[in-house]
Parts: sequence; C-alpha cells; structure tokens
Amino acid sequence: MAKAAQSKGTEKYASGVFQPVIDKCAGCGHIVEANAQQFCETYIVPSAKWRLGICNFATHAKPEIVTAKTRVNPLKASKRAAAGKK
Ligand code: SF4
Repeated sequence: MAKAAQSKGTEKYASGVFQPVIDKCAGCGHIVEANAQQFCETYIVPSAKWRLGICNFATHAKPEIVTAKTRVNPLKASKRAAAGKK
C-alpha cells in the first residue's frame, strides 16, 4: 500500500523534520517513500500517534468499537407494539 512516490513533494521528508514510520504503520496508505525510507504523509512523528493506542489516521487498522446491548423491557415493548398497531 505504500506509495512509491519519488516525485515532487518528497523533499520535505528528507529535511529531517519528519521521522520514519514505525512497525505498527506497516500497511498504511499514508506511507510515502523518500530517500529509501518510509515516512507518514499526514504526521511528522508516527510513533507519537501510536503512543495512546491506534493511530486515528491509519487506513489499515480500525479501533474495535464495543457496543453495549440495551435491555428491552418486555412490558414496554409490548405496549409500544400495541400502540403502533392502531
Ligand atoms: S497515518 Fe498513522 S498509521 Fe499511517 S503511516 Fe501515519 S502514523 Fe503510521
């Protein structure tokens, strides 16, 4: 998924401001290659994006969303259903 973009615009990655991607970034669509190294096109310090969990810009990893099951009161549900039939 890494873009092998060696075109205009990759000079900024070689300036030293951008830090190389980390292992967890492997497979992300925001990776660009410059000077035989891989950098993130959206974030300067990729390791900081993973410090508190999954990077929110990552295209290859999504956070697991835990949904709580709601309890349905059968009495209220039957009343709601009866009201809907009128
Ligand atoms: S967007 Fe996140 S996961 Fe993707 S390369 Fe950048 S820091 Fe890594």
